[in-house]
Amino acid sequence: MTQNFYITTTLPYVNGEPHLGFATEIIRADILARHFRTRGGKVFFNTGTDEHGQKLFLKAQEQGISVKELVDQGSQRFKDFADTLNISYDAFVRTTNKTHMRAAQKFWEVCDENGYIYKKNYQTKYCIGCELEKQDSDLEEGEQGLQCPIHPHMNIEIIDEENYFFAFSKFEDQLLELYAKDEGLVVPDFRQNEIESFVKGGLQDFSISRLKEKMSWGIPVPGDDEHVMYVWFDALVNYISILGWDIGQSMFDLYWKEGETFQICGKDNLRQQSAMWQAMLIAVGLPHTDKVYINGFINGPDGKKMSKSLGNTVAVDYILDIYGVDALRYFTARHVNNHEDTNFSIEIFHEAYQANLVNGIGNLTNRILQMSSSYGVEPVMRPESQYNNEALDSYDFNGMMNAVFKLVGEMDQFITDEAPFKKVKTDPEAAAQDLQKLLGQLWQVAEMIKPVMPDTYIKMVDALAKNEKPEEPLFPRIEISK
Ligand SMILES: [Zn+2]
Repeated sequence: MTQNFYITTTLPYVNGEPHLGFATEIIRADILARHFRTRGGKVFFNTGTDEHGQKLFLKAQEQGISVKELVDQGSQRFKDFADTLNISYDAFVRTTNKTHMRAAQKFWEVCDENGYIYKKNYQTKYCIGCELEKQDSDLEEGEQGLQCPIHPHMNIEIIDEENYFFAFSKFEDQLLELYAKDEGLVVPDFRQNEIESFVKGGLQDFSISRLKEKMSWGIPVPGDDEHVMYVWFDALVNYISILGWDIGQSMFDLYWKEGETFQICGKDNLRQQSAMWQAMLIAVGLPHTDKVYINGFINGPDGKKMSKSLGNTVAVDYILDIYGVDALRYFTARHVNNHEDTNFSIEIFHEAYQANLVNGIGNLTNRILQMSSSYGVEPVMRPESQYNNEALDSYDFNGMMNAVFKLVGEMDQFITDEAPFKKVKTDPEAAAQDLQKLLGQLWQVAEMIKPVMPDTYIKMVDALAKNEKPEEPLFPRIEISK
């Protein structure tokens, strides 16, 4: 296994609010970044914000502020969100930064030199919500004619102008070859199969520019004053612009060429990340991404899309307020399904918190340290090489957390079976031995949860080192009104 890991989230579009789905994406990326660092690897962890495109242009007009003002606010909101979630990113890229814009232009130029960009008149249907061209087969019949299923409240726009195109259709064979490689590209397999059949169905060249006179909020197309770049074509380049690809920085070689590259995204990004972006990389002669990991959606408790009022965003704020950041990190690692959709409600969250954190790890830590300090048991020092989270090497978040709770369950059972709290009255030596064993295992639990719950890790290590139960419970019991 290589020692250099490059990890990136997608860049959220600054128009939106941070929600549970993105929280899951960025927390999982962070868990892997921490995991690979602990394993001794060099890690570069990228996140940031996507700040061009028509949607922002229109919204700024609506609000009567400059687009720059709008994107500055939006970007700060996502940066604060990442910091609140304790995300250990190495870089926060903004696609309106000069360094990114320069790289995107260079990317365009190389693509053009290699013969993959051409100009033509075209007409298309376009969803501003997705910032994507739409075929009739992508759309649904609604009250106002054809609608985007993700944005039923927005009108489908008809674009009719001369644009630059990316010759996506030339990459069918190379993409299929890439998917067919032994190690594959997309995790899980069923998503890889999905993208494979999409590509087999035939690729359409897509427009990568907009007329500046209609929509000026974009990166200028090199050598043509009348056009700006299409937002996706610019934004995807962030994954390498942040490494200084265009100016030959050694970081690029170290991480993109020689390292293992990992991207994480929601299932609505499957085509963009595992087909569009991979074709763009091939077009400029760069190595493809090694792994594209696809999350499912988080739905309401009935499995339907979460409503605004129940609120994906509201839920995140509420959880952070009441339960704290480690509880949210725990939930996204263990209870949000690795790849399938997950049903969510505050009650489901509360249940998981109470059962596994309050009555699980929190209670176990208290009991063991309470006994060991009151029985005068010698503290156990941090054992060598306890860190072992094999499941994370294959990006199995659920599996990794289940291994932790298997151990927690065994420790609870051991306390019940051996009853050191009784033994201490008749055979204190045997009770002390039981506690020594439990303290060693508690270290192991702490080391395992370290990438997932970094604050809890520090509290546990502190308590173990002092050989005293934590002053405050690790996870306070919380009452919710029904
Ligand atoms: Zn849409």
